[in-house]
Amino acid sequence: MAPDPPVDVLVVGGGIIGLSVAWQAAASGRSVTVVDPSPGRGASWAAGGMLAPVAEAHFGEEALTGLLIRAALVWPGFARDLEEASGRLVHYRADGALLVAFDPSDRAATDDVLGFQLQLGLAARRLSARECRSSEPLLSPGIRGGAELPGDHQVDNRLVVEALLAACEHAGVAFVSDRAEGVALEGGRVTGVSLAGGGSRAAGAVVIAAGCESGQVTGLKVQPPVRPVKGMTLRLQAPPDAPRLRRTVRALVHGRNCYLVPRDGGGVVVGATVEEKGFDLAVQVGAVSDLLDDARELVPALDEYTLTDTTTGLRPGSPDNAPLVGPTGVAGLIVATGHHRNGILLAPVTADEVVRLLVGNDPSDLFAAFGPERFGPATGDRSAGEPLPGTSRIPG
Ligand SMILES: Cc1cc2nc3c(=O)[nH]c(=O)nc-3n(C[C@H](O)[C@H](O)[C@H](O)COP(=O)(O)OP(=O)(O)OC[C@H]3O[C@@H](n4cnc5c(N)ncnc54)[C@H](O)[C@@H]3O)c2cc1C
Repeated sequence: MAPDPPVDVLVVGGGIIGLSVAWQAAASGRSVTVVDPSPGRGASWAAGGMLAPVAEAHFGEEALTGLLIRAALVWPGFARDLEEASGRLVHYRADGALLVAFDPSDRAATDDVLGFQLQLGLAARRLSARECRSSEPLLSPGIRGGAELPGDHQVDNRLVVEALLAACEHAGVAFVSDRAEGVALEGGRVTGVSLAGGGSRAAGAVVIAAGCESGQVTGLKVQPPVRPVKGMTLRLQAPPDAPRLRRTVRALVHGRNCYLVPRDGGGVVVGATVEEKGFDLAVQVGAVSDLLDDARELVPALDEYTLTDTTTGLRPGSPDNAPLVGPTGVAGLIVATGHHRNGILLAPVTADEVVRLLVGNDPSDLFAAFGPERFGPATGDRSAGEPLPGTSRIPG
């Protein structure tokens, strides 16, 4: 049988990052193939869908916060274009979020975070307990206050993934249901990938967007130092006449992070745990129980809801918690991974950047600080994905 003809762009990994890149590259007139054994079912399926540049602003991550703010501005247009291209809704909601403290020491901790957000000039306003409860009447009477974060929005990440798959199909993207093992190089440029199931695919350019497994693709000069950071979300459904949450609530409950993201139709996503356990995806009883305890303390009305889904996923963590997006020193080979806690938020700006690189531009100012080469060349050492000393590892 004759080998498949080369395509312009081959994307390794069909999560929200790879699919966004594939859709945008195909829409710009390129022939595109995505290689993935289970597209759309990685971290992007597990996520909560918060688009949260303010709540995700952490000490020592100011450059990343700048990127997140810009990424949030792009989302409304991206959601509109995706809905039009796919014929599906993605339920983008710009109704802001509440940050809530459950006990006095949670209040002290959230006040520190709020002070930092205000110092950066981010949109946040301190609220009393009474103001929190009038903004969100389902909150427990025991809460100690919090803050309003009007710039933090949300989208239904599962609808986004389904819409991206449809938009890719409409744009002529081909899918290969296999794992890419390594990249093929010739004369200093990439020529395609080898497949785990045998054979290979030829391409003019290859984009490595395999999430937390991006560092396992062989043959890269700059091996992305990403590691799996396990997280779990629960999905709950309100009974038909039960009261519903109005907006996203992020909370500290006795020192533990917990968030509740309401969906159109009475669903609520509850998250999220953060564990460094390698490639383990087990759903552990203790983790489910802790999350439910915290969520029910915060919003007692959840007792009447139905638990419909528990999903674990592996965030692509990087040493400084920021993405790795850019060229690799091999002509035609681009990396787009390491999006860690914010891959849903960062997908549209990442796709724009990769398409810019595919047409031969230099990295944009926006991504200049987030190139994959910033941690040095490939070492073959998986521990390269460990966090840098002093960087924060805060749940998202
Ligand atoms: C519990 C949880 C909650 C989260 N909440 C949020 C949130 O609210 N907001 C937010 O912005 N972000 C959130 N995130 C982070 C976000 O989900 C990730 O940053 C994002 O999904 C990463 O997208 P990705 O496409 O890089 O990876 P993935 O979605 O994991 O996709 C990677 C794909 O690559 C494929 N693959 C792997 N290896 C190979 C190979 N060798 N060949 C071919 N294919 C391969 C996999 O099958 C997979 O489909 C959350 C993550 C988790 C786990």
